Amino acid sequence: MAHSKQTHKTTCCYCGVGCGIVVQKESDGRLTVEGDKSHPSNQGMLCSKGMNLHYTVMDQSDRLLYPQMRMNRSMPLQRVSWDEALERTAAVFRTFIQKYGPDSVAFYVSGQCLTEEYYLVNKLIKGFIGSNNIDTNSRLCMSSAVVGYKLALGEDSVPVCYDDIEEADVFYVQGANPAWCHPIIWRRIEAHKAANPHVKIITADPRLTDTGRASDLHLPVRPGTDITLNHALGRVLIERGYLDEEFIIGHTDGFTAYREQVMARSLAEAAEICGVDSADIRQAAEWIGRSRGFLSLWTMGMNQSVIGVNKNLSLINLHLITGRIGTPGNGPFSLTGQPNAMGGREVGGLANILPAHRDVTNATHRAEMEKFWNSPVKIASQPGLTATEMFKAMDDDKLKAIWIINTNPLVSMPDVNGVERALKKGRFVVVQDVSSRADTVAMADVVLPAAAWLEKEGTMTNAERRITYLPKVLDAPGEALPDVEIIWRFARKMGFTQEFNYQKASEVYAEYVKTTTGTHIDITGLSHEILKKQRSVQWPYRMDSQEGKSPVKVPRLFADRTFYTPNQRAQIHAVPDGNASELTNEDFPLVLTTGRIRDQWHTMTKTGRVSKLNQHVPEHFLQIHPDDAAARGIKPGQLVTVRGRRGEVRVKAELTTDTRRGVCFLPMHWGKILNSSLGRTNNLTNSLVDPRSKEPDYKFTAVQVVPYQKP
Ligand code: SF4
Repeated sequence: MAHSKQTHKTTCCYCGVGCGIVVQKESDGRLTVEGDKSHPSNQGMLCSKGMNLHYTVMDQSDRLLYPQMRMNRSMPLQRVSWDEALERTAAVFRTFIQKYGPDSVAFYVSGQCLTEEYYLVNKLIKGFIGSNNIDTNSRLCMSSAVVGYKLALGEDSVPVCYDDIEEADVFYVQGANPAWCHPIIWRRIEAHKAANPHVKIITADPRLTDTGRASDLHLPVRPGTDITLNHALGRVLIERGYLDEEFIIGHTDGFTAYREQVMARSLAEAAEICGVDSADIRQAAEWIGRSRGFLSLWTMGMNQSVIGVNKNLSLINLHLITGRIGTPGNGPFSLTGQPNAMGGREVGGLANILPAHRDVTNATHRAEMEKFWNSPVKIASQPGLTATEMFKAMDDDKLKAIWIINTNPLVSMPDVNGVERALKKGRFVVVQDVSSRADTVAMADVVLPAAAWLEKEGTMTNAERRITYLPKVLDAPGEALPDVEIIWRFARKMGFTQEFNYQKASEVYAEYVKTTTGTHIDITGLSHEILKKQRSVQWPYRMDSQEGKSPVKVPRLFADRTFYTPNQRAQIHAVPDGNASELTNEDFPLVLTTGRIRDQWHTMTKTGRVSKLNQHVPEHFLQIHPDDAAARGIKPGQLVTVRGRRGEVRVKAELTTDTRRGVCFLPMHWGKILNSSLGRTNNLTNSLVDPRSKEPDYKFTAVQVVPYQKP
């Protein structure tokens, strides 16, 4: 048989960088992947995770192949037909809704869902069931940035684009390690710096990471003191006259209160609180003040905090007082962790929003969507349960049924022992996933097999508002179905036959596109067909009124200095700089932070299957400063118990001065090790959340570390 090859262009399904990938499919079924040189985000580059993506598709050993269910948890799961699984699920949902009301059910989805999937689940529960109980694991990584942008700029709008990297000459990386977690963005920064030696990189992080090591200045800020650091930078910028007064007067509100706030604390006092040398703060502010292009980049160290929104605002303030926004190389750039966290935000895939950045609390917005969807119910006027609230409500028997799609909360949620208890108590748990490696499958009453990356079509939006189309390249194994089809089949079983009468994902997308008419997202010029030709575009992408003309490209927002706030002025918020995390004490004297390692993704259900990726860091570890270890009699490589107020973890100690004294670090990825849940990092973390973003405080847990002693 003649050898043949098919070539497809798609997008990486891991992080929010959204790299373009060329997939080659050989006639014998083998796949290869390489970076797409024509894709503007990655220009042919891929990181280790992207380069090994094909292995996760070709290894089908742990795929969920058929729907399964059981009538009670003491029984094993049994194979059933799609009709049986969905009819039973619909019957259970209907019963709970009739008996306890629409808020007795919930969907917990994922930043890895495609935009069409997100849109349809959102439409079903908000517009047809009548509850706002849909939230996403993106709540756990970027909701503080969403609220920060909204409060400062008027809407959840990332104002910059990746091409700003090559325009900037000062990068301020705060609470992020792009060298490991957003590697292609980092490579662009490194290449830019190599070609332009005057470019400066400042990194603020309690740990010295690969990003910090490659920076011109590492500010080893104490956990919980990022706002104090940013206020100190603001103070120096004011003192040194690096303000853009014309911009402040013409386009912002709140500067006077901000100036009072940051001037109230001396630089020496701020430096003492942050644990950072005041000369280094002064140096960082000088570089920022003198820069032509000032780009700030942040992720979880800022967002995953009980004061995450205020942290975001304190950073955005630095751009507003210097006028460094809306021009090439300037702007606050929140990097999204997941591939479609941004797309989920756009279609309203959070408990408090509706499509195209509408709000559930806004009566006009609700009325628009009720009319658009022809909803048989009123959209609820209050936000639904957010991620942590869902599991608490299930534990309290207020939430009766939860449907979990493409996420593994039994490893990833904070205070995960509480989540495990809730899922065990839950009356009805549906898990829709690709792989049986997802620990949460073991808790399910109904398991629905989903198509994986390359096995379904749809769209995603990356961190720079760039929308790409992902084609279907392979047939899904067994009876696995695209997630969007599972949802529309279920909706029809619930009786919504007309309104969910889709045949293709492109029809769902076309419907979503219409909801953006007249909004800031406006993508009315877009469709699957256009995306197939153009490969990727940034929003907005408006239908041009003049026939034959392409929509105007908008690489960066606010170029005209008009913001999305009611008075069109950006808002400078004088936020307090105190922390509200749980307290350390004699019993729990160390601060634990958690995060990612270079070659693993989330709970390792995909990357953990690739031996090449497992070689980078083969086992779970705790980073602890040698002085803290010596004080506890801990030797390198020794097994230790990390104990907190909610649970413990058993793990090997790595002694390193890369972490501050008093601060230790655990990667987030590992769940069970040798079938013991004592490897699960989130046994320790707490469910405190930021009051506005509802994002958990993963970066600050009070713990003790002691040598492990056999019982
Ligand atoms: Fe995929 Fe992110 Fe790596 Fe790009 S940087 S290849 S999107 S994991």
